[in-house]
Amino acid sequence: MSDPSAHFDLTLVREALSSSTLSHGLKIIGDHRTAQVVVGAFLGVRRFDDWLARTNIPRPTLAERLKALVQMDILRPRMYQERPERYAYHLTTKGMALYDSVLMIWDWEVKYGERPRSLPRRLIHKGCAHAFHPELICGACGERASMHDLQYRLEPNPKLPHDSGESTRTPRLRADSETDFSLGLRVDRWSLLIVAAVTLGCHYFDQLSFVLRIGPGVLSKRLAGMVDSSLLVCEADHSDARRRRYRLTASSRGLFGYIVCLANWAGTHHFREPSSIRPAHRACGQPFIPKVACSHCHQPLKPWEVSFEWPDGEAS
Ligand SMILES: [Zn+2]
Ligand SMILES: [Zn+2]
Repeated sequence: MSDPSAHFDLTLVREALSSSTLSHGLKIIGDHRTAQVVVGAFLGVRRFDDWLARTNIPRPTLAERLKALVQMDILRPRMYQERPERYAYHLTTKGMALYDSVLMIWDWEVKYGERPRSLPRRLIHKGCAHAFHPELICGACGERASMHDLQYRLEPNPKLPHDSGESTRTPRLRADSETDFSLGLRVDRWSLLIVAAVTLGCHYFDQLSFVLRIGPGVLSKRLAGMVDSSLLVCEADHSDARRRRYRLTASSRGLFGYIVCLANWAGTHHFREPSSIRPAHRACGQPFIPKVACSHCHQPLKPWEVSFEWPDGEAS
């Protein structure tokens, strides 16, 4: 097998990744706490105390995340009590546009997560009255699309700032017992960026360290953590047994839907700039704009057309 690293431009991959809408989008809403608040909002949570009851977010953190989501025009507060002042938080149009990403979080958690009881067990599409799984489709041709159906053109967008890379603090590789993952996604920003880098063809330690600007000590810990949680497989390289090669697993390939939906939302609704990573759908040749559809009737999904069934059988 030939060494693929010889055939592509690592500097271009580095520039494209660091100025991608994925990297910046994850920075503004990709942290676990923010994801918990957003997923909660789609499940009908409106009030501060209800988020507290549904998640383990500490009070000051919840207040800070709600404020940030209001500033980004994802949530809008409406006063429902004057003394003391109390607000209900509603999703704005821009917030509603995160629905595809939220469906992809649900899909991944149900397939590969620990099936937390805090997430609905089944989703029902009111349009066709069937239980469904969210499926990723191409917005141009309407066909199902997976990671393998796309090709990527890298074109660093100078209007999107460049990331300086990994901060110097030690990575938070939290054991599941330390954090309650109710509602949010169990995978952090850097793990998602590593999945994106592998998708773009970086399979070796030195390549990942270069394109993501992560020092060797921190990267070793991150990769080991991802191998432990079955997000990566590390194996001897076919062409050089002294080299280790990282590849994706079914679980990390399953994160692809979330990655493309989040990157698309960030480019379309937040930064209003095309990403530096431009996927195209091989089958139809068009730029790939992700949509999430019902697996039963194949129609794109709207938040108000979906109802939930909870693990205890209660519907809403
Ligand atoms: Zn297509
Ligand atoms: Zn349907």
